[in-house]
Amino acid sequence: MIDFKALAKEYGTPLYVYDFDYMSAQYTKLKEAFRGRKSIVAYAVKANSNLSVIKHFAKMGSGADCVSIGEVRRAFMAGIPAYKIIFSGVGKSDEEIREAIEKDILYINVESDAELQRVEAIARELDTKARISIRVNPNIDPQTHPYISTGLHDNKFGVDLSTAKRMYIQANNSDNLDPVGIHFHIGSQLTQLQPIREAAEIVADLIRSLEALDIELKFFDVGGGLGIKYDDEVTIEPYDYAQAILGTLTGLDLTILCEPGRFLTANAGYFVTKVLYEKQNGEKKFVVVDGAMNDLLRPSLYGAYHEIEALSDSKEEPREVDIVGPVCESGDFFAKDYALPPLKGGELLVIKSAGAYGFGMGSNYNTRGRSAEVAVENSQERLIRRRENFEDLIALETEFLED
Ligand SMILES: *Cc1c(COP(=O)(O)O)cnc(C)c1O
Repeated sequence: MIDFKALAKEYGTPLYVYDFDYMSAQYTKLKEAFRGRKSIVAYAVKANSNLSVIKHFAKMGSGADCVSIGEVRRAFMAGIPAYKIIFSGVGKSDEEIREAIEKDILYINVESDAELQRVEAIARELDTKARISIRVNPNIDPQTHPYISTGLHDNKFGVDLSTAKRMYIQANNSDNLDPVGIHFHIGSQLTQLQPIREAAEIVADLIRSLEALDIELKFFDVGGGLGIKYDDEVTIEPYDYAQAILGTLTGLDLTILCEPGRFLTANAGYFVTKVLYEKQNGEKKFVVVDGAMNDLLRPSLYGAYHEIEALSDSKEEPREVDIVGPVCESGDFFAKDYALPPLKGGELLVIKSAGAYGFGMGSNYNTRGRSAEVAVENSQERLIRRRENFEDLIALETEFLED
């Protein structure tokens, strides 16, 4: 049990708290599911990019899936070896591609024909061979939220099958490209196995048709997207996930690479915020707290549900309230019509499942400093990022820099 009251007292609020032991358990569950096969679990750094979080996974043997060169640098700093780092994303700049090649990471996940030409040209300039994988868009509906689905042709990710095939042929004939993998990632917060199985089958068939052309790949990168329980979702068991994927690979000798983000960190994280006051506008009741959308954006951005627990001794009946922050936007809420007992100023709310796409999506909107982050491991706590102060917020505004 994490003593949120003590942590709030020590580090102030709003505050992110991460249970590192939970992260370890999730990592192990997934890694074990692929036991007996060559596999790399490459943590999707964007889910929670705090260096201490990445380092925690590095120590367990994890790789890293990065979507910017900044994330690649974080992965290196945190101790992930180059041969377990991959670089994905639809819009990589020349500088990013160059640095990724120079750093000799496992591969670059190429997302378009145009990008393949850039990677080849830059590798030629560097007089080397760039390892690549191609992100295939299998046109599968993942049955998740439209904002987080990525495997349909009407969204921007990856290339269709015939384009991918052409690109592999070009790469295989190039002196500066080494096609080593194939990648798909159909969406996030997946709770259905069937779309994953279908996507894997389509991509496995493509691998077979490439083998017929003597193009031999080593890595089967199934992306991330494993869903977690925010509310009453029935989620996919890692074992079933692994079986579904492995079932499509008969006759193929490939290393499985998977890129979980949310699965590893979401339910390890808690966002702790303090009640400022309650108010009532007409019939509507509000609990105003000190955290806001600039700290945890998911409810505002996706209408996402997060379970919220009040640390209150109140014995009174719960009533339905909107839980809102101080930011000047009507979209600044954590929950609507949520049942909570009457609360006093100073009492705490713990917003759960906040360890993925929480802090990382934060901003300084309304000149609010971002929260501190605390890790709890073996019942020991430690500060892993201090709270931002006003000086931090203005530090880059050049006309006011102190000389
Ligand atoms: C975001 C992303 C992931 C991680 O997604 P989760 O839903 O957090 O598991 C993995 N791979 C790629 C390419 C991504 O863009």
